[in-house]
Amino acid sequence: MLSSLLEKYRMNRIRLVKADITQLEIDAIVNAANNSLLGGGGVDGAIHKAAGFALLRECKSLNGCATGEAKITKGYNLPAKHVIHTVGPVYRNHTVAEAHHLLSMAYKNSLQLAKKHKLKTVAFPNISTGVYGFPLEEAASVAIATVLEFIENNQTPQQVIFCFYEEDNFKLYEHLLNSESN
Ligand code: ADP
Repeated sequence: MLSSLLEKYRMNRIRLVKADITQLEIDAIVNAANNSLLGGGGVDGAIHKAAGFALLRECKSLNGCATGEAKITKGYNLPAKHVIHTVGPVYRNHTVAEAHHLLSMAYKNSLQLAKKHKLKTVAFPNISTGVYGFPLEEAASVAIATVLEFIENNQTPQQVIFCFYEEDNFKLYEHLLNSESN
């Protein structure tokens, strides 16, 4: 799996960036939202704050989002054109297998929506690894496997960005790539 990841990385279909996701000027950023879609803390709060009240108004019309599913809105005051809201699992509320499946569905359904809307570039935060308590290494293996499988089978989105706020998260993915290339 990792050699395939490395190949996609080299082909620029996967990128790792250390940034505030609200600053990215791309087709869509993914929001690690909660089931209400009405905002929260962490990356969700940062996205709503940067996008402005109009985002909350559109979110209110969506009637929430089930765990593992995804819904799309405009980006409003964000530099990103769209926000794909997905809900990752709260780790402790599920068996390990269920949590892995739901996290994988959150990535996959977000990518399906990006494809449906012909979005070329999409950036993910590290879904469920903050307040939702998903162990970093487990989340990395689910996220990487799901994104790889999707881009191998689909031309759109052309580029998937893993966006990290914290150095240790960024380093983990970088390590996964570099250890494969050595
Ligand atoms: P969850 O509730 O899904 O666990 P959190 O928002 O608590 O979501 O955390 C998800 C990840 O997003 C964490 O790694 C957190 O550090 C990161 N994060 C928080 N703010 C930002 C931001 N502005 N840009 C990118 N990532 C962020």
